[in-house]
Amino acid sequence: MNILLLGSGGREHALAWKLAQSPLCDTLWAAPGNPGIAQTASCLTLDATDHDAVIAFCEANVIGLVVIGPEAPLVDGLADTLRDAGFAVFGPNQAPAQLEGSKGFTKDLCARAGIPTGGYERVSSEATALAALDRFGAPVVIKADGLAAGKGVTVAMTMAEAEAAVRDIFSGKFGEAGAEAVIEEFLDGEEASFFALTDGATIVPFASAQDHKRVGDGDTGPNTGGMGAYSPARVLTPALEAEVMTKIIAPTVKTLADEGMAYSGVLFLGVMLTAKGPQLIEYNCRFGDPECQVMMMRLQSDLVELLHACAENRLAAIAAPHFSDAPALTVVMAANGYPGTPDKGGGIANIEAAEADGARVFHAGTTLKDGALVASGGRVLNVTATGATVTEAQKRAYAAVDAIDFPGGFCRRDIGWREVAREQA
Ligand code: ATP
Repeated sequence: MNILLLGSGGREHALAWKLAQSPLCDTLWAAPGNPGIAQTASCLTLDATDHDAVIAFCEANVIGLVVIGPEAPLVDGLADTLRDAGFAVFGPNQAPAQLEGSKGFTKDLCARAGIPTGGYERVSSEATALAALDRFGAPVVIKADGLAAGKGVTVAMTMAEAEAAVRDIFSGKFGEAGAEAVIEEFLDGEEASFFALTDGATIVPFASAQDHKRVGDGDTGPNTGGMGAYSPARVLTPALEAEVMTKIIAPTVKTLADEGMAYSGVLFLGVMLTAKGPQLIEYNCRFGDPECQVMMMRLQSDLVELLHACAENRLAAIAAPHFSDAPALTVVMAANGYPGTPDKGGGIANIEAAEADGARVFHAGTTLKDGALVASGGRVLNVTATGATVTEAQKRAYAAVDAIDFPGGFCRRDIGWREVAREQA
């Protein structure tokens, strides 16, 4: 079948790499893609906000499956339009994509379904937000309601920080995304990511991972889109995974279906492992970036079969996803200046040398300039390796990082540190 993959990041490069390995895949198209994706897919320019243009492309190229990588087109309703036109789509419709598109929507759903998560109040003005802060006290978490590229959340340890965050949101800085906010109870514990596939009726666990949000070693400095990840996150034990499935994911999927918003696609949960058990921090409606890269390195099943079955409500009829036990770890190489304004145009070389020992270098913000590979965004490369342990995967990933020549970039040197410490204890 012909497949169209939408997106241009490291997540989409990992998806493209895996989709192209399937015997079910004839032609793989990617829009817009990147130079790494172009190694296995035909890249084209297609504006995902122009739904008519996407449909026209799918009709002309007999697309059998559309895989939507990032959240924005999902929240924008592209999956609805494609489904209405008769195409199989991997990714939820607009209404259930509110799980990611509106933090208040998710909190209200948790309240209706009895899902364990921190206490919260929805607020829509600075005055009501400040009054809510008084009721919560510090530490407290303040979140812009809508999509803010990971920049709309403040974990405030003091009331002064909390008040500044409220003023920031209601200054209009996040536009529509900040018209409302959620004030949320601070949850204490270790954080993990968990992924499940669902077609609205059947739910299958996918895999766990742990991300590293802060820009600096030791989890210091500002938040980023993610500086590295590893999978599986063994801190999420089989017992905790079962608890997440029954207490969080199953009631979410059921409540959405009961309310006429059946969810089809991947559910990506951020969970806090607290003394009271796993609590939901957030839902995302697509694969994580960079978590997707490590999960694709471990996935042994046919990705096309999985995503197509999900899109056609046939998950119950196929084998559950199967993963290698060997952990995978990815290190994000970012352009200097990230997460502020990144330096663009920095030359990148020696990727083949980095891949010589089995590591894979997924492209994110790269482009070709006069035939040479250069940085074109904040997060540039995802250098990914596997090993018998996270410690070994980490060693291999950093050996590959060190083989790459990217003088305009940097990376964290401690990705996987929690698990490495546990393995060495
Ligand atoms: P991203 O796009 O970066 O995933 P987001 O904007 O969707 O972020 P959240 O994931 O809800 O926002 O929050 C970002 C981070 O803030 C979380 O990964 C977590 O570390 C921290 N955080 C969020 N909510 C809480 C909470 N209630 N208690 C403690 N920490 C929290």
